[in-house]
Amino acid sequence: MTIHKWSDRRAKMSPEMQERIARRTEEHLVEMNLSELRRATGMRLISDNDLPIGVMNTCATCGVQFALHKDVETVWRGSHKAFVCPNGHSLAWSDKTPQEKELDALRARVKELEAQLVETKQKLEQESVKNTNLATRLELWEPSK
Ligand SMILES: [Zn+2]
Repeated sequence: MTIHKWSDRRAKMSPEMQERIARRTEEHLVEMNLSELRRATGMRLISDNDLPIGVMNTCATCGVQFALHKDVETVWRGSHKAFVCPNGHSLAWSDKTPQEKELDALRARVKELEAQLVETKQKLEQESVKNTNLATRLELWEPSK
């Protein structure tokens, strides 16, 4: 048995035959029930129920919706790495993660406390000098012996 490539066989057909085949294919595709097609190909429509741990995202450029596993999204959000939507648009999460925001807040708090510490040390030094001066004056006016 000889196997012929469909494209080769189609090329040898008359234009009328090619057109008839194309029209019939078109008709069959229209008649095919989408759910039958999915069943036949093993494809399923992803619903929210199918993705209890998935997160739906929308491409800001083309608006296509796509799902990412929650863990993948968490890592990608944290790394701010670039990725592409199903239509190939480059995307990246530039927003800070809750952990990054908390870290920023804690860093700001540490800076604030360090500034307070410097100020307090300066005040303490000033008070210490005042105390020494007062003690010296008191010693002059009322010697302890
Ligand atoms: Zn896109």
